[in-house]
Amino acid sequence: MQSTTEMPARSLGTLPALRGSVIRPEDAAYDRARAVFYGGIDKRPAAIVRVADVADVQRVVAMARDGDHELAVRSGGHSIAGHGTTNGGVVLDLRDMAKVEIDAVACTAWVETGATALQVTKAAAEHGLVVGFGDSGSVGVGGITLGGGIGFLVRKHGLTIDSLLAAELVTADGRHLHTDAERYPELFWAIRGGGGNFGVVTRLKFRLHELKQFTGGVLVLPAPRHCHSERRREAPRHCHSERRREAPRHCHSERRREAPRCCHSERRREAPEARNRTRPGREAPLPG
Ligand SMILES: Cc1cc2nc3c(=O)[nH]c(=O)nc-3n(C[C@H](O)[C@H](O)[C@H](O)COP(=O)(O)OP(=O)(O)OC[C@H]3O[C@@H](n4cnc5c(N)ncnc54)[C@H](O)[C@@H]3O)c2cc1C
Repeated sequence: MQSTTEMPARSLGTLPALRGSVIRPEDAAYDRARAVFYGGIDKRPAAIVRVADVADVQRVVAMARDGDHELAVRSGGHSIAGHGTTNGGVVLDLRDMAKVEIDAVACTAWVETGATALQVTKAAAEHGLVVGFGDSGSVGVGGITLGGGIGFLVRKHGLTIDSLLAAELVTADGRHLHTDAERYPELFWAIRGGGGNFGVVTRLKFRLHELKQFTGGVLVLPAPRHCHSERRREAPRHCHSERRREAPRHCHSERRREAPRCCHSERRREAPEARNRTRPGREAPLPG
């Protein structure tokens, strides 16, 4: 906690009355603080500001705007393109703004954008409720929501943005706005999939859904022994794709009509010996 914070190298200016903290290149915590999820991204910001509240966000936005500094906004740090960090600019790091407030009666949640998908999922699950994020719990709620958000519940409840009811954000001119379907509706439309291009989103309001039961895990279907890759040499020749021409004619899908009737899956029940006997309304052939 600092009251007035001198900004580092390249004279970035000052951040008066900051409640959060500033991490500079000379600080021991710098390398850890600048790291993002993907190891190949190795940018060196001039400063990382870990904001504590909306006023801090406004201060950082004003400082970056007035000083013409590149500003990278970071929630979970999972951007594949490395947009959550910058070389020589300022990182506005939301990780310490991660409050999750669940209203189990109204089935809604207000979530600060520094929370991870896992934090929200766990808090909602205590009430048997859920909002669909992606397949990874450490992804930031800020980034995944602003990008659309697709995950295991997409067929049941849609994208993450389909559950978004409202948002609060700091715009480039420093205002803190509440947006939803009625207030600033075009802004609300834009942030649902438009990424971080319209302001720094500080809170998101989600509709929560009941999820009484789910089944998860990996499903592996049994394969015939000769289909196991390590045993491909033992497979009948016509199973090797590069040898398909040598396969019996009826194995080629484009020649299925030429296959014996018993090979057509939809007619398998009619296989030669059983055919006339099983068909209702037909007399079974007399013996002899
Ligand atoms: C392991 C892994 C698994 C993933 N799985 C899925 C998945 O299943 N489904 C899916 O849809 N996506 C998935 N993603 C993609 C992920 O949702 C995006 O990369 C997302 O942008 C990451 O968000 P973040 O907050 O963690 O990243 P960050 O790097 O912090 O931010 C990403 C971008 O969003 C902007 N941003 C973040 N927070 C804010 C904010 N509060 N206000 C304004 N702008 C902001 C940043 O400026 C940056 O451009 C996955 C990514 C990874 C690495």
